[in-house]
Amino acid sequence: MSRSINLAVIPGDGIGQEVVAQGLKVLTAVLPQDVKLETKEYDLGARRWHRTGETLPDAELDSLKNHDAILLGAIGDPSVPSGVLERGLLLKLRFAFDHYVNLRPSKLFPNTATPLAGRPEIDFVVVREGTEGPYTGNGGSLRTGTPAEVATEVSLNTAYGVERVVRDAYERANARPRKKLTLVHKNNVLVHAGHMWKKIFDTVGQEYPEVTTDYLHVDAATIFFVTQPERFDVIVTDNLFGDILTDLAAAVTGGIGLAASANINPDRTFPSMFEPVHGSAPDIAGQGKADPTATILSVALLLRHLGFDAEAARIEDAVAADLAARDGSARTTDEIGDALAVRVAG
Ligand code: ATP
Ligand code: MG
Repeated sequence: MSRSINLAVIPGDGIGQEVVAQGLKVLTAVLPQDVKLETKEYDLGARRWHRTGETLPDAELDSLKNHDAILLGAIGDPSVPSGVLERGLLLKLRFAFDHYVNLRPSKLFPNTATPLAGRPEIDFVVVREGTEGPYTGNGGSLRTGTPAEVATEVSLNTAYGVERVVRDAYERANARPRKKLTLVHKNNVLVHAGHMWKKIFDTVGQEYPEVTTDYLHVDAATIFFVTQPERFDVIVTDNLFGDILTDLAAAVTGGIGLAASANINPDRTFPSMFEPVHGSAPDIAGQGKADPTATILSVALLLRHLGFDAEAARIEDAVAADLAARDGSARTTDEIGDALAVRVAG
């Protein structure tokens, strides 16, 4: 196991700056003395774009390759046209670094604001495909500006891309106690992509006889996320369905302030990237109100990816204890970060 971490940090926009500072605070506190942490900050996001017109220049993309992992706060600001930073920075990174597994764990922590309070333990993880589907930019507009305008957004699915993410999901399910894997798609309507996903899901499944499988259409899955979330263990799904389902999962398991995510390159040919599910939250930026817990839990995912399992578990336990101790009184971003830093160190 590597006893050093060379981390790229992209604080980004809005509350991204505030929550990343807390993530680094807790990371520093949890690492043993003999682990050398090096960080390099990258100035990317809305301010950079306003200043220079750049989103992610090639030189910085190259430089980012030299790190063990990337910690990202949030990217996006209402002053930048929609899509510029999402496509030019976030999606560019995911594609360039082949982040084909987008991992979003959902766990119901005690004492959290959720419509599902008092339910049996909810603990599932969504494996969202990260490089294909309708997010590749494959499409276009015709007859723009006329009443007959046409726009297409083609969902791209390759056997190669589907198989590798499905296999990753089987591996994850096989490593969990319940060993259950659910495929979510919409193969009664999206028959071309849907049937390929199902066929590959069934074929790869033959190699994992211990994993129980089932299939749900995405609309049914949204119902079960709310009415029977305990039925899920690992879910594998395409890029678009995964995007929507994981926001729903965050909402039913304690809110967006707690939802962590990882953009993983399982082959480790490029660094993986860890970030909270939430965005830059311009409505509360600069007020010290943002909950840094989602970012701190993303740091735990980062540590686990780099082989620091004990440290990752210490962060998750600290978060559970901190949430259990919350009494409803408002705490600042900094106070939550401080409290968690103390807990992981102690
Ligand atoms: P993006 O397009 O960047 O994902 P978004 O419009 O989906 O952004 P968010 O930035 O995620 O929205 O914010 C959605 C709502 O959740 C806002 O009201 C915001 O204040 C709130 N919110 C987001 N993150 C946090 C957080 N860490 N703590 C508290 N509230 C948050
Ligand atoms: Mg969002």
